[in-house]
Amino acid sequence: MKKEALLYDKLPHGEVQCRTCQRRCTIAKRAAGWCLTRVNEGGTLYTRIYGEVSSLSINPIEKKPVFHFYPGSRWLSLGSWGCNFRCPGCQNWDIAHWKGEDFEKGSYLAPEDQVDMALRHGCLGLSWTFNEPTIWFEYTLDTAKLAKKKGLYTNYVTNGFITEEALDLLAPYLDVYRVDIKGFSNTTYKKIAHITEFRSILKVAEKAKDYGIHVEVVTNIIPGFNDDDIQLRSIASWIKKSLGPDTPWHVTRFYPHLKLSHVEETPIATLEHARKIGINNGLRYVYLGNVPGHDGENTYCYNCGALLIKRYVFDVVENKIRKGRCPECGVTIAGRF
Ligand code: SF4
Repeated sequence: MKKEALLYDKLPHGEVQCRTCQRRCTIAKRAAGWCLTRVNEGGTLYTRIYGEVSSLSINPIEKKPVFHFYPGSRWLSLGSWGCNFRCPGCQNWDIAHWKGEDFEKGSYLAPEDQVDMALRHGCLGLSWTFNEPTIWFEYTLDTAKLAKKKGLYTNYVTNGFITEEALDLLAPYLDVYRVDIKGFSNTTYKKIAHITEFRSILKVAEKAKDYGIHVEVVTNIIPGFNDDDIQLRSIASWIKKSLGPDTPWHVTRFYPHLKLSHVEETPIATLEHARKIGINNGLRYVYLGNVPGHDGENTYCYNCGALLIKRYVFDVVENKIRKGRCPECGVTIAGRF
């Protein structure tokens, strides 16, 4: 459904500037922005994807991955079309690399229907995921407001390229900000995401933290792109210093895909090494992802080493945390349990 965009400026000669994501596209009359989801019609900017759902499923929150926010809870997960990145190894390229085609009839889901669906199926919250939720901003904001009224939590699974002003509007209604940090250099971000400056992504994540939103970080480790010690150490140090040592960091395995089909899958030893770097740099919770059955899926007490949550892939096999504390030494475990 087409709807007027919330964050944009009108410029001379009928142009508009979108302020939804950090590309801040200047869009000429009858043209679309970089993501193709926003179009300038007669000097008014419209989103084309309001309520247009490409994917919908109910998953445990571990699938996002989010490990410290009501482990084992069920969430309604939804995505739309398009993205403000074009990652060459994108797993969801069939929806994220959308080229602006028309939608199938019946793909529209009103905000109130999304909320009702989540409640009917006993979900704890809504995750906007699969493609970048920022470009679905107006819809996720409307739905988040409604979700809060009905007692649901909300989760953005994001590449973090949202503008600060968009986050300012969303933050009062957002509970979880699961952000990708794809590397720690402009060169890496240029290769993976086709952007020239990545530090603004860090700044917005810090702002989300300042708002009191629960933040977890994911780095999909791609051999030859972001698996060097310098970048891994830098990510870990930034998380500790700017988001806090209790912030979970998920280092996940890359599988060859799309334009990166020639790249090998991440060796498990590389992921274990990254985890060690995270822990040695003061992070309390560093997890391995996409390695079923690995010990790095579990949560251990940072203080006494007791096993707190045993996981298998996306399932919580056992959760020993009691009232947010380790049952062995009593230390508080960060998050919501
Ligand atoms: S949301 Fe789309 S149109 Fe707006 S700035 Fe980002 S890429 Fe450009």
